[in-house]
Amino acid sequence: MNRVVVVGAGPAGMAAARAAAAAAVPVTLIDSAALLGGQYHRQDATGDGESLALPGAVDYLPNTVVWAVEPIAGGHRVHLLTGPADGPGRRGTSIDTAALVLATGAYDRTLPFPGWDLPGVYTAGAAQALAKGQGTAVGKRVLLAGTGPFLLPVAEAVLRTGSAVVAVHEANDPFRGWLRQPSGLLAGWGKAGELARYLAVLATGKVPYRRRSTVIAAHGDERVESVTTARLDRNWNILAGSERRIDVDAVCVGFGFTPQLELAVSAKCAIRDGFVAVDTGQATSVPGVLAAGELTGIGGAVLAAAEGAVAGTTAARILGARPGPPVSALRQARSARRFAAALDEVYSVKPGWQDWLHDDTLVCRCEEVGFGELCRAVEEREARDVRSLKLLSRAGLGQCQGRVCGRNVAELARLPGGPDAFARRPLAAPVRLGELAEPIRTEPTEPTEPVSPNYEEK
Ligand SMILES: Cc1cc2nc3c(=O)[nH]c(=O)nc-3n(C[C@H](O)[C@H](O)[C@H](O)COP(=O)(O)OP(=O)(O)OC[C@H]3O[C@@H](n4cnc5c(N)ncnc54)[C@H](O)[C@@H]3O)c2cc1C
Repeated sequence: MNRVVVVGAGPAGMAAARAAAAAAVPVTLIDSAALLGGQYHRQDATGDGESLALPGAVDYLPNTVVWAVEPIAGGHRVHLLTGPADGPGRRGTSIDTAALVLATGAYDRTLPFPGWDLPGVYTAGAAQALAKGQGTAVGKRVLLAGTGPFLLPVAEAVLRTGSAVVAVHEANDPFRGWLRQPSGLLAGWGKAGELARYLAVLATGKVPYRRRSTVIAAHGDERVESVTTARLDRNWNILAGSERRIDVDAVCVGFGFTPQLELAVSAKCAIRDGFVAVDTGQATSVPGVLAAGELTGIGGAVLAAAEGAVAGTTAARILGARPGPPVSALRQARSARRFAAALDEVYSVKPGWQDWLHDDTLVCRCEEVGFGELCRAVEEREARDVRSLKLLSRAGLGQCQGRVCGRNVAELARLPGGPDAFARRPLAAPVRLGELAEPIRTEPTEPTEPVSPNYEEK
């Protein structure tokens, strides 16, 4: 009970672990990945990326997935499986804690369009992960489409693998968008250097950056051979006659990020507008549970790290330590949130995407549910909530459990409950039946390191 448990070792989780350790409380930092860093600091398979250090006091558990969080008296029981996800012999344990920090990040969002299920269509995040993690090229002629500044580092990563980037198609118009957000632009001024670097990379690689334009279809027999792009109006309706066919062998699409909410939902944390609701100390609505990073809003690595530092400090206080208020992290988080709010406005997903779909366009790839079938489940069979929609159409019932399709299906079906309607997954990760059947081994609770009673005077 007397240790801070942090789930997720991205910028938010690492900062939380560091802050809690600095307050002299024991900390366990858990991540399903083999290497520290999360998405932003993703390292290559050799770990030769940036050097990311943790204080020795942090007990770091890599290759360990948290598959469930269970409320118990005075806190939460965190259920873990350690070992490669695809291999046998994973070790199951659980840790009890009175101060749980959730920093599980986000995954990238794609929108369906005809042909998006063809081999050769990647999420932007997958293309970047392959490029950064393994140095693998997704194709020789690659086109990027979607919305958000994330398309730029992905273009850079793809170019580094030796592929040609045919074009980057941004569905919004960021130049106009930022002019309408002067205070957000000012708050993000520190990012100007990074932006200039990406634009220079695009210029050197002779990569056109097309605004208000996107991919509306991918074509090919066995895999992608070409795409149709089109110009869009401000609501993302297709401008008639603007369609163009372009030969490519890979297309990467990214329309922002979806927070990884399942553990927070299992812990019964309140969700607001699709994100975990937190106060200024990063406390959720559930006592003893804190949240930080993309889980609470999409704002980039700087905001995630600032929130993590605040959450780690609050977690240490829950265990009785008395660190001073994290003044600079609080200030950084305030300014980064202004930038994040502006980002959200400039790069928001507009409703016109729903008209890119045909009757036979798959909306749920795992269960092969077409758009027409989904509409029939809603209109003719009156599926009005997630459960009935799943049962009547099977959308969201497949292997990904709605991670890829849930948000889009909820929007298409106009389900009540907002973008998190599909986020209830009591098992947060795949677990084998044999692993479930094993008796739960609870880690013996170590005696708490003495917290200096004079902490505030030091
Ligand atoms: C695919 C992808 C690529 C991105 N690339 C960039 C980029 O190049 N530049 C940029 O500025 N921003 C990028 N972002 C945005 C980026 O996510 C954030 O800016 C930053 O990494 C957020 O930090 P975080 O700590 O909140 O989450 P993350 O960095 O996503 O870290 C979350 C961590 O939680 C772990 N985790 C999640 N669930 C569990 C569980 N159940 N059990 C155990 N561990 C778990 C994950 O393995 C992950 O390491 C990317 C986002 C995504 C999704």
